[in-house]
Amino acid sequence: MSALSELNEQIALCQQCEIAKYRTKAVPGEGAEDADIMFIGEAPGWHEDQQGRPFVGPAGQYLDKLLGSIGLGRDKVYITNVIKTRPPSNRDPLPTEVNNCRKWLDRQIEIIRPKIIVTLGRYSMAIFFPGKSISKIHGTAQKRDDTIYYAMYHPAAALHQQSLRQVIEADMMKIPSLLTEVEDLAETKPQPQQLNMFEV
Ligand code: URA
Repeated sequence: MSALSELNEQIALCQQCEIAKYRTKAVPGEGAEDADIMFIGEAPGWHEDQQGRPFVGPAGQYLDKLLGSIGLGRDKVYITNVIKTRPPSNRDPLPTEVNNCRKWLDRQIEIIRPKIIVTLGRYSMAIFFPGKSISKIHGTAQKRDDTIYYAMYHPAAALHQQSLRQVIEADMMKIPSLLTEVEDLAETKPQPQQLNMFEV
């Protein structure tokens, strides 16, 4: 079994938060284990809780369309959430739930090592862009170490607010060029051996 499948099994057994008692299924995440792009939403909703899969309700169908607009399918990316259990009545995740689940998200990132992490909505943005506002930073990227962090609105927000549709669709269209950029950087980056040779 792969490291990611093992991890996702552990996630499904986690009972650290009270809400674990009420879930139908945990929703660890799904997609390619070697994905270049990882999308991180907020929390599973009713549909996701029923199926144990992320983004399978209306917001997920819209995310599929957005992915399709840049020639990607769910099998080419990794999709997960900040918290892996549905909060009752779809309330916002509590700070303790976000903290408790953080170790799972960190481990998923360590295993997948995506080139681009796309935050979908405020909760995911708050982890990677603390103190920032989504209306200011959506559609902008930050490179830290070897990873690009890119903030987008949540697809559900665009479903509820027509004016955000064009915005989220335009932001999605910027992802392919970000990927090319990060791949070019990796190619031109001197390897340690080359560096040593240069120094000698
Ligand atoms: N909204 C999310 O943030 N995640 C899901 O998996 C579904 C809806």
